[in-house]
Amino acid sequence: MPEQPAGRSAGYPLHTRLDAYAERYAARTRGMKASEIRALFAVASRPEVVSLAGGMPNIGGLGLEALGETIRQLVVDSGTSALQYSSGQGDPRLREHICDVMALEGATAHPDDVVVTVGSQQAVDLVTRVFCDPGDVVLCEAPSYVGALGVFSGYECEVVHVEMDEHGLIPEALSSTLTRMSAAGRRVKLLYTVPTFHNPAGVTMSAARRGEVLHICQAADVLILEDNPYGLLGFDVDPLPTLHSHEPSRVVYLGTFSKTFAPGLRVGWAVAPLAVRDKLVLAQESATLCPPTFSQQVVARYLERQDWQQQVKDFRLLYHERRDALLRALDEYLPAASWTVPDGGFYVWVTLPDHLDATAMLPRAVGERVAYVPGTAFFADGGGRNQMRLSYCHPTPERLVEGVRRLAGVVEAERELQAMFGSTSAPRRPGGYQRPHPDVG
Ligand code: PMP
Repeated sequence: MPEQPAGRSAGYPLHTRLDAYAERYAARTRGMKASEIRALFAVASRPEVVSLAGGMPNIGGLGLEALGETIRQLVVDSGTSALQYSSGQGDPRLREHICDVMALEGATAHPDDVVVTVGSQQAVDLVTRVFCDPGDVVLCEAPSYVGALGVFSGYECEVVHVEMDEHGLIPEALSSTLTRMSAAGRRVKLLYTVPTFHNPAGVTMSAARRGEVLHICQAADVLILEDNPYGLLGFDVDPLPTLHSHEPSRVVYLGTFSKTFAPGLRVGWAVAPLAVRDKLVLAQESATLCPPTFSQQVVARYLERQDWQQQVKDFRLLYHERRDALLRALDEYLPAASWTVPDGGFYVWVTLPDHLDATAMLPRAVGERVAYVPGTAFFADGGGRNQMRLSYCHPTPERLVEGVRRLAGVVEAERELQAMFGSTSAPRRPGGYQRPHPDVG
């Protein structure tokens, strides 16, 4: 259906009008908005544009012949069960393998505590559905993962951001936010955190801070939602113990095969204390009856029959090389900015000089054939105006360098314009999450 120009939908036939049923929508849909930069991302997917925006894993190196054979055998040997409905909690064999995967990060989990989900994205949704009423507060890092902000806003939660720095969430900021919430009589239901190789900030919570954050949440009786999609994708660093492995009764832990295998299979998981797990299974059954049987069995067979640990090492090398290329290019071309140095994962968080507005600059950047995600996408409160997320997971090292060179030209042109005419920034938008594009990741 063609896009309708804003304010002109009244002339379209009822069944094609975007506003046709607006007055009947549930109140919770108010938080479901596409961002005004979404159209730009359609342009940004053209091959001539270097996209530093998308967070899609780089799965070109997967051995597709071998995988195809594994899938063929699965259908031939066990098609009638692999293509059937199955347990709401997830395939028992896969749940055992998930515990082995978690052990690589030093975590112990029992298969009974695992709930398989449709990617970890669905796990965020189910946990929020189980815990949050409209108006409940969810604490999130500043900035925070765009897809989780979308879930919280969909359930009408109030997101309150807690400051972070290069060592992750700042414990003092967490304490003072909790005190402020309690003084205001607000119920804090969850702390949502991505402690390792953060999306979008690219930082990792230090070991000392992990202990402090757990201690503070324990004292305030706040449940932690630990989202760890990138933990196995570290460069030259040993994984830090997860929050969950310190204190399993205080943490709902989320993992996924999206970054270590393939996101299209949509297989993730939650590990939760018994009572929470019980509710998550009921919520899962009402959402999907069961997580996709076929995908789960593909993942289980892949883990059993292919050298997946070598594949994860290959992914690490690939992302490491690309991170280095991006950082070198930033050093060379963007000295006016500052940025984080990720030890793993996909993202670098860039802070421009204070007077620049990354959202206002984006159309010019796309015109110059480079795209990024403006910082405001990762805040529920309008923050991040002079910041942006750059992903290095997809472009080749040469393209990354070229992308940063183009970006530097755009930043320089913006600085010159401002020197001549003053600020070109759009007025600061009121708080409210807007999803830029599904590919943003
Ligand atoms: N959490 C974080 C922090 C992510 O970056 C992503 C994907 N970009 C997800 C959750 C969702 O991943 P999936 O649903 O594919 O497992």
